[in-house]
Amino acid sequence: MMITYTSYIWLPLISALLVSAIALYAGTFRNTPASQPFRVLMWLCALFSYLFVLSLLMTSLTLRIFLAQMLYIPAAFITPTILIMVIHYTGHTAWITRWRLMALLLIPMITVVLVLSYPLHTLLRYSPQIDLSGPLPIITFKRGSWYWVHQIYGIIIAINALAMLIASLRNPVLRKRNTLILIFGIATPFLADIPTALRITPIPNYAWTSPIFVCIGILYGWALLRGQIFAVTPIARGEVMDHINDLVIVLDNNGRIADFNRAMQEICEISRRNIGTLPDVLPSVWADLLRRYNGVSTHKEEVIIGTGENQHVYDLVISTIRNQRSQPLGRLFILHDVTVRRRNEELLRKNEERFRQMVETMPIPLTLTRISDGTYLYVNHLASDHVGLPQSAMIGKQAISFYADPRVRQIVLDAIHQNGSIHNFETQLKRIDGSTFWALFSASVATMNDEQVILSGVIDISERKKIEEALRYANDRLEVQLAENKELQSQLREQATHDVLTSLFNRRYMQEILDHCLTLVPREMNFISVLMIDIDHFKKINDAYGHKAGDLMLQAMGTLLRSQTRQMDTACRYGGEEFVIIMPTATLDVAVRRANDLRHAFANLCVEYDGRDLRATISIGVATFPTHGGNSDTLLHEADQALYMAKATGRNRVYAADESLAAVDKLLSTD
Ligand code: GH3
Ligand code: MG
Ligand code: MG
Repeated sequence: MMITYTSYIWLPLISALLVSAIALYAGTFRNTPASQPFRVLMWLCALFSYLFVLSLLMTSLTLRIFLAQMLYIPAAFITPTILIMVIHYTGHTAWITRWRLMALLLIPMITVVLVLSYPLHTLLRYSPQIDLSGPLPIITFKRGSWYWVHQIYGIIIAINALAMLIASLRNPVLRKRNTLILIFGIATPFLADIPTALRITPIPNYAWTSPIFVCIGILYGWALLRGQIFAVTPIARGEVMDHINDLVIVLDNNGRIADFNRAMQEICEISRRNIGTLPDVLPSVWADLLRRYNGVSTHKEEVIIGTGENQHVYDLVISTIRNQRSQPLGRLFILHDVTVRRRNEELLRKNEERFRQMVETMPIPLTLTRISDGTYLYVNHLASDHVGLPQSAMIGKQAISFYADPRVRQIVLDAIHQNGSIHNFETQLKRIDGSTFWALFSASVATMNDEQVILSGVIDISERKKIEEALRYANDRLEVQLAENKELQSQLREQATHDVLTSLFNRRYMQEILDHCLTLVPREMNFISVLMIDIDHFKKINDAYGHKAGDLMLQAMGTLLRSQTRQMDTACRYGGEEFVIIMPTATLDVAVRRANDLRHAFANLCVEYDGRDLRATISIGVATFPTHGGNSDTLLHEADQALYMAKATGRNRVYAADESLAAVDKLLSTD
């Protein structure tokens, strides 16, 4: 028979079963922090007890020795698992990295290797002997050096876990009672193991640890059942909460203070002692605030705390804290101080208000346009009146829609983009009814509320434009008028000095020229000759061919005189078919020669009229200053006398004036 019954098995067996039950039950709390290491711990304890039970039942010494050795496999891992559970419980899960875990489990793993490699060495336990002296046959071993390493390592780990728990007693999030249960649960088996290790137990080598596991398991399980140990494990707790400036306070389901951060602690002057009490202990403003939101599970609001200088504005956010199974654990109040922001906003609002008032009272239409989308941010009432749309309706409208020519808007924007402003730009704008008006437009860029805006001022210059237009029209008319006048004046001038038919100077102008020449020439040093010309038998031409033919003849004479006279000579129509030529510097001889040239030229002249060639001759009388006279009257008279003689002596000839009639015959010349 391999198995032998002993009543000593019941205690560890019941323990093993109970601990297994707890491990299974804890499995339903899978998502609860620290529940996983707790379950591992329970299974390790159960395994230990089962192995112990088996070792008690075995009759085969070899098997008992084997099982007694195997006990060290779960035992090696129990303390590191406790430490891991404590780390989770105290909210330091982040400490556990893969490398740290391997370092922590290094010694237990070596122990396992040594257990499995027995009896190849004497490092752990060796030389088993059966001790039948007690009520229970017990196998004793000699202990190798690693046995003590294993024991001391276990002690160090357990002390660490306990130290962490003791330190966390000050952690307000962890309920003190729960922490104490854990401390008790670790310290007890740990202390119980010491006499076993020292072999001072009533039954040496009987593992009393087993039933102790049960007590601890039940204790933990109960705590787990009530959700008291692990459920309160920190939610976004620790450093973060204490380092944020926002005020954080947590009330549990009963409205009692469950937690608060350092910022809240400083503002409210509360202490950890107040945890578990109602908010009434807080300064009245805070107590009132928390009371006001009694039962409110989620909420957002701006609240004002305090008065005067101490007044603060907070953004209050209330939210419900829930466990993994969505059961409410309490409510979280976060208060974000927005006093400075609100104050700045208020300042900004006032500034904007002041700016608005200023713009509103400006005596010209003003608009404020957002550069990014070209819409009106603000318009004063003059601007809105001007385009015929209420202020509120104009805001948000596209500025471009008020340009008579939308392309001008781009020109304005380009100018503003280049120079930051545009001044006295003239353009046509459009009212809401589609009518246009001329505007003098000035604008510049500004930054308002971190936005690029254009502040534009507009002056309606339609009236001015109208006046300008009228003036321009009047001016144009005036210029035309002036030009006409000028033309008229020149015509008048022409008419005053010229003969209309021949375009030669007239008699009056000739008189002026002659008088003028006479005043200029120094006497006896120079000559002025005067030719008096008369067309022979002109009346006959008129009579024979008509007055028009006579006019043509006179015009031909005019053309001839203009072409035959020198620059300094002046030819004029003296009257009817009589002409005078004033020849400054010409002596009598020269003048007579020129007179004859003219006479020949005229005789050769042929005027075509009505299919006929008309010809005529001229007679010329010549008088010279100073020989024949000292003034214009005498000179002209002398020339006229000479002409008379030319006529009298047969026409078509030149006759020079002379003092003695006796010389008349001599001077007569014919062809
Ligand atoms: P004489 O050789 O003696 O100078 O003879 P005449 O016919 O030329 O002189 P008279 O003084 O008798 O006639 C001049 C004529 O000239 C008279 C007049 O009808 C004509 N006459 C004067 N002025 C103009 C004119 O502007 N146009 C025309 N067609 N005839 C004119
Ligand atoms: Mg005449
Ligand atoms: Mg004549």
